[in-house]
Amino acid sequence: MEKVVSGIRPTGNLHLGNYFGAVKSFVQMQEVYKCLFFIADWHSLTTRPKPEDIQASSRTIMAEYLACGIDPHKAPIYVQSDVKETLELYLYLNMNTYLGELERVTTFKEKARKQPDNVNAGLLTYPTLMAADILQHRVNKVPVGKDQEQNMEMARRCARRFNNIYGVELFPEPQNFYFNSQALKVPGLDGSGKMGKSEGNCIYLRDDDKTISKKVMKAVTDLGPQAMNSEKPEVIENLFTFLKIVSSEETYKYFDEKWNNCTLRYGDLKKQIAEDVCKTVAPIREKILEYSANTELLDKIAKEGAEEARESASATLKEVRRIIGFRAF
Ligand code: AMP
Repeated sequence: MEKVVSGIRPTGNLHLGNYFGAVKSFVQMQEVYKCLFFIADWHSLTTRPKPEDIQASSRTIMAEYLACGIDPHKAPIYVQSDVKETLELYLYLNMNTYLGELERVTTFKEKARKQPDNVNAGLLTYPTLMAADILQHRVNKVPVGKDQEQNMEMARRCARRFNNIYGVELFPEPQNFYFNSQALKVPGLDGSGKMGKSEGNCIYLRDDDKTISKKVMKAVTDLGPQAMNSEKPEVIENLFTFLKIVSSEETYKYFDEKWNNCTLRYGDLKKQIAEDVCKTVAPIREKILEYSANTELLDKIAKEGAEEARESASATLKEVRRIIGFRAF
């Protein structure tokens, strides 16, 4: 079975955009590939999180992934800082990576602009840590968003360069993987094109029914359909996209017809969306709360995940040490 590894940011909570755009695909992916998921808590140090928040954030996001349907027996979830092998590989990869190429990475330039008082070496070497995350498992595929493509290019370069320097074929070049090319883009309901944390327009998987309804009922609309069978303006199209994501096909058709014959009342449409979003979110939210209350279970899952990840990583590191010329550890 082909291996896939994917990082999870430990900041914040999952929203509908994350769920329909990524996590739901991961749940399907674990049936077809050997997936490893890791919570990237070392990466989060570039912004100096408070010590008391570190483990809490990992548990929070782990509870949410499990609630969405990630099955740790199929796809281990581990915490990055539980697998020290990653750091050793990170060091070796840094030795073969040039300052110039790291400085050219767009995400580095952006982050350096955002936190000019803390342009640390960790920020600069983010791509080599990411390369170590990936290469230690010698995976062929990594699910990525657009913002990660350049970092993936660096990971491939790290693999290629190591193989070339030592004349080996240890690391496969990991490819960008778009498991579900039909993954939906979830729009914002505030008139913006996309639901996102920085847009401040998210419906979270932790939101209760009342909060969800409030958010949906506040969705931006316009004066209503002005002519039969007219094209929908963007804000209305966004509502219909929502309907497509959370409601049945009949419901979608029903409201689409109402739009086409100019009898659509936005209040009814929003009520329907709110109801169906609640139906989608409620069972996930319940599971999130259940998992969150069981830190013992979460820690056990993390421990078992780390054991599996270390097994995979240490097999690679054993080879790497031998190839470089070090004694076996
Ligand atoms: P973020 O939480 O913004 O780091 O997003 C993590 C991943 O979730 C992205 O790489 C996308 O795959 C997915 N995602 C986030 N927001 C949306 C959205 N509004 N629609 C679809 N997918 C999304």
